[in-house]
Amino acid sequence: MKVSVDRSLCYGSAECAYRAPAVFAFEDGYGVVRPGAAQAADGPQVREAVEKCPSQAIVLTEREEREE
Ligand code: SF4
Repeated sequence: MKVSVDRSLCYGSAECAYRAPAVFAFEDGYGVVRPGAAQAADGPQVREAVEKCPSQAIVLTEREEREE
């Protein structure tokens, strides 16, 4: 899975950075995926962050096999 944050939906609660600090950071008022963490994001903390994001701004997508 690949994780990303839709900045147009994020309203900056910082929940994601609090729940999964290895994957998310909080920068300039938005949740962001840490560099290099996008592809490694399939743990329970990340799933919890996805579920608890108050604006459903965190998006998990299937990894595209051919990309790697
Ligand atoms: S939990 Fe959701 S709304 Fe809050 S900072 Fe993260 S992406 Fe943005």
